Amino acid sequence: MLVKTDQDTLQSYLSDASNMPGGSADRILIPETQEELREALLQCASEGKAITIAGGGTGLTGARVPLGGTVISTERLNKIISIDEATLRAVVEPGVSLRDFQTAVEERGLLYPPDPTERAAAMGGTVACNSSGARTFKYGATRAFIERLRIFLPDGEELQVRRGETFASGSTLTLRAVSGKTYTLALPQITMPAMKHAAGYFVKSGMDAIDLFIGSEGTLGAIAEIEVRLLRQPERIVAGVIFFDSVDGVMNFVQEAREASLKTRANASADGGTSEIGIDSRALEYFDRFALDFVRDEYPNIPQEAAAAVWFEQEVNDETEGTLLELWYELIGKYTPFMDEAWFAITEKDQEELREFRHAVPAKTYERIRELNQRKIGTDMAVPDAHFRTLYDFYTTEFTKEGLQYIIFGHIGNSHVHANIFTSNAEELDRAKAAYHRCVLKALELGGTISAEHGVGKIKRDYLRDMYGAAAIEQFAVLKRVLDPAGLLGRGTMFA
Ligand SMILES: Cc1cc2nc3c(=O)[nH]c(=O)nc-3n(C[C@H](O)[C@H](O)[C@H](O)COP(=O)(O)OP(=O)(O)OC[C@H]3O[C@@H](n4cnc5c(N)ncnc54)[C@H](O)[C@@H]3O)c2cc1C
Repeated sequence: MLVKTDQDTLQSYLSDASNMPGGSADRILIPETQEELREALLQCASEGKAITIAGGGTGLTGARVPLGGTVISTERLNKIISIDEATLRAVVEPGVSLRDFQTAVEERGLLYPPDPTERAAAMGGTVACNSSGARTFKYGATRAFIERLRIFLPDGEELQVRRGETFASGSTLTLRAVSGKTYTLALPQITMPAMKHAAGYFVKSGMDAIDLFIGSEGTLGAIAEIEVRLLRQPERIVAGVIFFDSVDGVMNFVQEAREASLKTRANASADGGTSEIGIDSRALEYFDRFALDFVRDEYPNIPQEAAAAVWFEQEVNDETEGTLLELWYELIGKYTPFMDEAWFAITEKDQEELREFRHAVPAKTYERIRELNQRKIGTDMAVPDAHFRTLYDFYTTEFTKEGLQYIIFGHIGNSHVHANIFTSNAEELDRAKAAYHRCVLKALELGGTISAEHGVGKIKRDYLRDMYGAAAIEQFAVLKRVLDPAGLLGRGTMFA
């Protein structure tokens, strides 16, 4: 195990992509084997030191920002243990980067759908945050692909949690460690919203034990090994970036594309895929006018008059490609006058360029936030589809009224976009925070969630309370104390 205490090394573990200030730690432990991860936890526990588990540091909520104590970095736990093409399963250590894993899987003609845009994320971090991304529109979040987790608790006990093996009895969940020690958890009495959602612990009567740890943001245990489910790669993809001249145009286009996709999927599951060929987008991603302006220098072929854009991807094969392209052209033509300016990508190289364009918008946004030296103020709320436009208009009205500079992009297929506000001084930051809070309350009033994919971390703690109330947060804390009695793991994340 490597131990680092020099200031230069410590610095790079005190932040994440949220730009949250105030991180501090007295040492970094870097286990080189899973067994050393257990030893690192035991060492911290015996010294009573707070523990922050570090993955790739791409999180957007300050969850990885340590508030004192020790950082345990998973960077050397970076083995892809197996990829089994026959059973469509892979086993990885938590420090494997999403980029390395996606590359290894794709080389074998396989698909791991979770793809939260920033491939520098570590696999353990994506599980701890239940990350999503563009393909979540078709395939769901990381949770849907996690089959088994090996977890170490601060007392050094090992849990092996396999999907389908351990279920809560009503609202009591009993976990049995490999040693035989048991932990009995009372599940908080909350109702999670029925949409894409990543705020607080996943708890539900009769739930599968594995789901508690997915999205627990490093507060319940250290993930030491992950088994995931894979799919076969589709034969081919067609993709496009379509520009629109009005927000109404883009909203109507998205609504029709979403409804068509859901209908195609419902038909396919009813008849095993023998039904008529239909639109089934695997990604529907939005960029507002300001997002387009933001990357215009790098992409000068964005039409000057464009009010917004949508990037879509559709899986095709030899048999379906012609019909599906016709269906997409017909749908696009109904809602945009910029048909000739659309970017279509048929080859893998062109599609990669569109993905780079998608990545460039958030990457440049977070870079600008760092340059401005301000904390990230970016929405991650989602609401039921029927209320998305109401929330969207609420965002733009609030930010305009406050004279705030912002850009909006993200996963419009899931009625979930990120509005990021740029502030350049403390007074603007205060106004941005107040406007943001009004947006949180509006999303909750519309039946939504405070976080659809980034999690709560340290910067969204108060909003979790807005969502569930103080009594439910106390129930979350009681649950955590069973597994982490001294409250060492992820101090400051989710709980004050
Ligand atoms: C440009 C950009 C675009 C992004 N786009 C998306 C997007 O589209 N969708 C999306 O969902 N996210 C997105 N993100 C957020 C980010 O990529 C994810 O939150 C990421 O999954 C976190 O992984 P990480 O390894 O970087 O975790 P870190 O930031 O290192 O840690 C995050 C949390 O996970 C915990 N953790 C890490 N490893 C472990 C472990 N082994 N055991 C227990 N806990 C652990 C940490 O303690 C911390 O609480 C984006 C980020 C950037 C910078």
